[in-house]
Amino acid sequence: MMNIELQNMSSPLSHRGINGAFQRERQRMIERLKTQGIVEPKILSIMAKTPRHIFIDEALSSHAYADHALPIGYGQTISQPYIVACMTAALLTQNRLDNVLEIGTGCGYQTAVLAQLVGKVYSVERIEGLLLKARERLATLALYNIDFHHADGSWGWKENAPYQGIIVTAAPEQIPADLLEQLDIGGRLIIPVGAQGVAQKLVKIIRTRSGYEQHDLETVSFVPLRKGVS
Ligand code: SAH
Repeated sequence: MMNIELQNMSSPLSHRGINGAFQRERQRMIERLKTQGIVEPKILSIMAKTPRHIFIDEALSSHAYADHALPIGYGQTISQPYIVACMTAALLTQNRLDNVLEIGTGCGYQTAVLAQLVGKVYSVERIEGLLLKARERLATLALYNIDFHHADGSWGWKENAPYQGIIVTAAPEQIPADLLEQLDIGGRLIIPVGAQGVAQKLVKIIRTRSGYEQHDLETVSFVPLRKGVS
């Protein structure tokens, strides 16, 4: 007998097979996020339909929805679901953002979540192998409002600036000046800051007409923001 699923066909993520698998695990992840304080319905519904398991190695896919980071190759990790949700919530405002710069594409999961919530995502990754794979996955999900750039993201991506939002998923010891400069007035920069092996801080910087406001969010542990490309 044919297994017919009712789906919202207007969603770019409505492919059967990709989305059909791991539905129960995804729902459990959403319930957990709610208990962790994530309340934004839009973020929860996007994460409930984004197939996180396709962003990691098949051998690890049974852990895809668990509450921890996982290796994605090249010594890098996919951020845990709570951190993805938390950074996304810190970035979004009442109004839909037209453009967001992401530094550290990694496997592309955070990129996929953002692409469904904002007008356009510009994503920069320094490791070419990761970038190529992420690009493939995001095309599979029919998410096309993303431009990729293989570069050292500490310099931002000047050509498309200013950005209403910038999200950095690797930790520098100090906030790169170019990222602050490429932020629009009213724009937000969400970035982990601190050395490796010590407690890093996730901070939110808001650019105002007269300067920058800083808000400290969480204690976190991210891989380092490195110089150059590879
Ligand atoms: N959001 C990603 C996080 C990956 S880990 C995910 O969930 O998969 C951090 C990523 O930042 C790694 O892929 C790493 O290669 C990248 N990165 C580190 N320094 C960078 C830099 N200077 N420019 C661009 N990407 C960088």
